[in-house]
Amino acid sequence: MTSSAATSSSAVEAIVLAVEDPELPHVTIGDLGMVRSVTINDSGDVEVVLTPTYTGCPATEQIRDDVMTALTERGHSATIQFAMSPPWTTDWITDAGRRKLREAGITPPEHIGASTVSVTLRQPAPTCPRCGGRESRLVSEFGGTACKSSHVCTTCLEPFERFKAI
Ligand SMILES: [Zn+2]
Repeated sequence: MTSSAATSSSAVEAIVLAVEDPELPHVTIGDLGMVRSVTINDSGDVEVVLTPTYTGCPATEQIRDDVMTALTERGHSATIQFAMSPPWTTDWITDAGRRKLREAGITPPEHIGASTVSVTLRQPAPTCPRCGGRESRLVSEFGGTACKSSHVCTTCLEPFERFKAI
């Protein structure tokens, strides 16, 4: 095994950013804005700091395992920590991440601006990812996961999920 100290931190960061969210096909944790820092310490160990998305989202532990696996498979020893402050907000999702969500039939969250706003009170009506219709019926506050809500478009009648803005 070659020394991981020789690897550039940007190469290691690319490994971490490319780890996919277990619940969102093809959407990486880099797309979601979860990666706070990736550094290589003096011992050559990779130190990763992530901010979890939705509190209590069961995917969080899975993501930690997936990041660890991605790094150890490439010969790195790593420590992974979670930073809870400032809390993650859907505003951190990149434009590429929003496009991938839409392609997966999930309406990306609206930009909500300052995270100090109480965000659970009102969310703008979601736009149908298939036809762009603004009218839909809420089926469930909790779709496949706590992170998403389920809707039916009243224009094309197709069901879709919306990634909740927080
Ligand atoms: Zn529609």
